[in-house]
Amino acid sequence: MININLRTFLPGSRVMLRSNLSYSFVTVFCIFSLFVTNTAHADQVVVYSARIEQLIKPMFDAFTQETGIKVKYTTDNEGALLARLQAEGKNTPADMLITADAGNLWAAAQAGLLKPVKSEILESNIPAHLRDPANEWFGLSIRARTLIYNTRKVKLSELSTYEDLADPKWKNRLCLRTSKKVYNQSLVAMMIAEHGEAEAEKIVRGWVANLATDPLSDDTRALEFVAAGKCDVTLVNTYYFGRLMKKEPDLPLAVFWPNQNNSGVHVNISGAGITRYGRNEQAAVKLLEFLSSDKAQNLFADVNMEYPANPRIEADAFVAAWGSFKQNPMNLVRAGELQTTAVKLMDRAGYR
Ligand code: FE
Repeated sequence: MININLRTFLPGSRVMLRSNLSYSFVTVFCIFSLFVTNTAHADQVVVYSARIEQLIKPMFDAFTQETGIKVKYTTDNEGALLARLQAEGKNTPADMLITADAGNLWAAAQAGLLKPVKSEILESNIPAHLRDPANEWFGLSIRARTLIYNTRKVKLSELSTYEDLADPKWKNRLCLRTSKKVYNQSLVAMMIAEHGEAEAEKIVRGWVANLATDPLSDDTRALEFVAAGKCDVTLVNTYYFGRLMKKEPDLPLAVFWPNQNNSGVHVNISGAGITRYGRNEQAAVKLLEFLSSDKAQNLFADVNMEYPANPRIEADAFVAAWGSFKQNPMNLVRAGELQTTAVKLMDRAGYR
């Protein structure tokens, strides 16, 4: 390509000159490319995001407006982004990784793709259980994985805890999403952290024994099954409930907050970390701090009907109407550490 261009520009020159020139042109071009892609830009941050564009762009625009720092982003699923970060290694253009679920952020940290950030702003804005103890990732919004029940088929007095869904009284009344989804792996991992492996396995076996149908492909499908009366209760992230109820407000579904007298509701996060080899660390930390701030927290949580991670910020009115609840305060790093154990446990228990 470059040779062709040189020939075009130097039609009468000798072959030797042409080739020398093309070498120097190539060298200059390469140095220039290195400069463009691998040099720090105080006024730019590159983000790899597993959150889709419509969930991140409003915050990035607000950040650019406030700071003048541009945000470039690529969206893809978390597996693809982690593989890409790993393959790019030291040459990655990415400064920040945004993804859902502490299990995914933990995996990125384990793979050496993230770098610790010491920031008083982040420490003050994000509660300790929602961030990595080694400061490699920070929760930015909370997703509550809770019980949703059919209001025509379940008496409120029947509901109490996640563990209780293993009781024979729920035989043929429970629907669950597949155990392949990281959300359920994290939930079971946190149950292992709390009860130990043997007790957690007993609970999961109880759930499986109570299933009304094979595990379902996603949370929305599980909600539709409950709404249709094919089962009475399920376990989902509340934003799926929110999306469905916005479309069909008359469905006989309601939220129940379990474990309010003991461990609290299982929460997980959407969050972010700074990449180990990013070139624009200062600007990236500024963006991360901005995302934890009052200004961005409403946007970050509200666009997906999640809860702000920053406890000083209130949830959107539609979400707040589901009631307040006590969260499980155990650090989410446990969801990552026990993820493999959880997957094996669910397999043994016959939870597909
Ligand atoms: Fe989700």
